[in-house]
Amino acid sequence: MGDGGSDTGEDPMLDSLICVAGSSIKRSGFIASHSSDERERRVIFVNAGGEELRRQGHSEIEVETDRFFQGGDVLRTDEEVADGGDLPSIYQSARCGNFCYEFRDLPPGDYSVDLHFAEIVYTNGPRGMRVFNVFIQDEKAVSELDVYSIVGANRALQVMNIPVSAGKDGVVSVNFQGVVGSPTVSGICIKQGAPELQLVSSGRDGKSLLCDNCFAPVKLTAAENKAARMSFTAKYEREIRELKAQCQMKQDECYEAWMSLTAANQELEKVRAELDVKFFQNFTLGQAMEKETEKMAKISSKYEHDRRLWVAAIDELERKMKAIKSEHSQLSFEAHQCANSIPGLNQMVTAVQSLVGQYDDLKMKFNEEQERRKKLYNQLLESKGNIRVFCRCRPLNMEEASSRPQTVVEFTDAKDGDLGVLMNGSNKKIYKFDRVYTPKDDQCDVFEDASPVATSVLDGYNVCIFAYGQTGTGKTFTMEGTEQNRGVNYRTLELLFKIAEDRKKTISYDISVSVLEVYNEQVRDLLASSPPAKRLEIKQVSEGVNHVPGVVDMKVENVDEVWNILQTGSNARAVGSNNVNGHSSRSHCMICTVVRAKNLVTGECTRSKLWLVDLAGSERLAKTDVQGERLKEAQSINKSLSALGDVISALATKSSHIPYSLATCMLLISTIGFRNSKLTHLLQDSLGGDSKTLMFVQISPSEHDLGETVSSLNFATRVRGVELGPAKKQSDTTEIQKLKLMLCQLKCKDDTIRKLEENVQVLEGKTKSKEQFSKSQQDKIIDLENQVELKAELCGHLEKRLSHVYEKMQRKEEACYSFQQKVISFIILATFQRS
Ligand code: ADP
Ligand code: MG
Repeated sequence: MGDGGSDTGEDPMLDSLICVAGSSIKRSGFIASHSSDERERRVIFVNAGGEELRRQGHSEIEVETDRFFQGGDVLRTDEEVADGGDLPSIYQSARCGNFCYEFRDLPPGDYSVDLHFAEIVYTNGPRGMRVFNVFIQDEKAVSELDVYSIVGANRALQVMNIPVSAGKDGVVSVNFQGVVGSPTVSGICIKQGAPELQLVSSGRDGKSLLCDNCFAPVKLTAAENKAARMSFTAKYEREIRELKAQCQMKQDECYEAWMSLTAANQELEKVRAELDVKFFQNFTLGQAMEKETEKMAKISSKYEHDRRLWVAAIDELERKMKAIKSEHSQLSFEAHQCANSIPGLNQMVTAVQSLVGQYDDLKMKFNEEQERRKKLYNQLLESKGNIRVFCRCRPLNMEEASSRPQTVVEFTDAKDGDLGVLMNGSNKKIYKFDRVYTPKDDQCDVFEDASPVATSVLDGYNVCIFAYGQTGTGKTFTMEGTEQNRGVNYRTLELLFKIAEDRKKTISYDISVSVLEVYNEQVRDLLASSPPAKRLEIKQVSEGVNHVPGVVDMKVENVDEVWNILQTGSNARAVGSNNVNGHSSRSHCMICTVVRAKNLVTGECTRSKLWLVDLAGSERLAKTDVQGERLKEAQSINKSLSALGDVISALATKSSHIPYSLATCMLLISTIGFRNSKLTHLLQDSLGGDSKTLMFVQISPSEHDLGETVSSLNFATRVRGVELGPAKKQSDTTEIQKLKLMLCQLKCKDDTIRKLEENVQVLEGKTKSKEQFSKSQQDKIIDLENQVELKAELCGHLEKRLSHVYEKMQRKEEACYSFQQKVISFIILATFQRS
């Protein structure tokens, strides 16, 4: 037997590793034998993965450097290998990996192989990290060797005496095949001769092969040895099979256990995941709950706040409602009282209504009457003649009075319009005019007769009023007058405003004034603040309407404005003239008043003009005086006055009672020379037709002026159409009386209507105020009732909202409660699953 005791037989686990008979496993390193025999038997000893080693002495050992190998790597350790025997250093190196050893050139014969191992890499285990098989000459010699599991780390292990035969080729191959991990080997020793057989099967002591009969040690041949080995092998194989079956059983059990463990693990994982989910849910639910709780707290505080507000508001409303109710009852009471205090209110209302009806009726009648009055008034004026001439004689002036002159005029029949003029002392000539004013007649007397003509402009008629006569006879006095003794101009406009004011309920008037001057056949605007860029021209704007473009047309609202304008014009007249009186006597001053009327009842609109003209002096100058500028002036004046005389007398003829046809009249009128002078051209649309013309012929009583007086009177007579005058007048006397009577009656009717109107107005006012009072009371009551209703509605609405909010709160509370319950159940479930 080899060196050292074998562990085989003592440990069944080690036995199971050995696949060939005779070999054994030893848990220690190489111990050299002292016998030379043993030394001689060692054919080859290689230090796998290491260097050559040599130990001299009585047990001389020679270990060759690593060779005969194919493949693999070298492993080394500096750590000491325990139980390394005589050559502990060979265990500090190893060949590792996929390798084999092939020993060649060995003489054919039996050999035995020692293999040296140590686990120097996986020093901390565990078991099963390196498991491998060893094949010698392709026969498995060691099965599933795990050095670590047998001796642990850095400890030597030997598999000894593996029998092997070298054939003719002299090759012994040692093959390492890994089962788990890579195989390693630290040294291989090939010894000559087969190993001595160790008896196992029949040997009782396990040390030697003994005969079964005589217990003598038995020497076995190689064949017997093989047979014995075979039987061992069979025995071991049987055992192996049993063990394998057991192992399989255990494996199955293990598998089942593993499977159930896996399943349990999976289940656990699932449960864990679920738990995680639940935990997460729980967490989020907790958070949500916190939020909800917060919200709820807010809502409840808001609700509480709102509730308090609503309660206060309701209290307030109730209080107000009470107050309103009491006010309402008070007002109803007052209304009743009020209604009771006016007995027969309904009768009164009906009476007033009937009065209103009567009033409307009367108004209509009044309008009709007014229309008739206007017609009659016009007829009356026409009967007097549309062209009328008044003669006014001024008093003797201071100078004349002091020189005791003879007056050449006589006013005996002045009331009948007769004026006597003493020619050459005794010869008296009678002139007939529509009116004759003595020097004693004042401005009021003059205006009284002139006003009907002047004011007919308000009825829509065009009117011209002239003052004609020699300079110094009172033309300007009659027209303008003085501030203390105002003339026709101012008085006319004053009266126009007065009448307009009286008629304002039925007619609205717009009155505007422009002031012009005609001098040397040139038109000048006396109201213009600066001289015009170009000469003013007369233009026909429409059929029968003339206009001077660029002329200032001042709208006037009252008499003060009128006076200012007249003054402005009068002052402007003096500008640019050295001799004011001289200039004014040689120019025509023309005030044009335009009246725009709108009948508020019928809607009828009219536009009419009133011309107030202070003509230039009509005196003829002595031929010796007439030179230069004066000649031009005289010619201009003469031209314009002649044209005026021609035009008026022509119109007087054309509008006479002679029954011309309308077309003939128009033809005749068209032949009249209006354009012969600026004066007549300007007046064209206000002369003739329905227009009223009034001329004041101004005369002096002095015998010094007799010539001019006669001339003026002749002119006036011609203008008046004297040949038609008397006949017309006479034939019209009865008619005039009749018309006067009618006018009187109309005036009476007017008065009655006015009184009735006033009565109706008073009654209307009273009824209206009563009606308004009762209406306002009723309105108040309705208003209060509405308010009460509104407030009641509001209360209902508020109550509804409150109950709604309360319901909502309850719902939220319930939701929170169920939420809490859920969370608690989740927590319980999670805790249960974890435990
Ligand atoms: P004319 O404008 O025709 O040149 P005026 O009007 O300037 O004349 O009158 C000349 C003067 O005679 C003025 O001083 C004026 O006051 C005076 N006069 C003219 N008519 C009357 C009258 N009817 N009563 C009193 N004074 C008069
Ligand atoms: Mg004058």
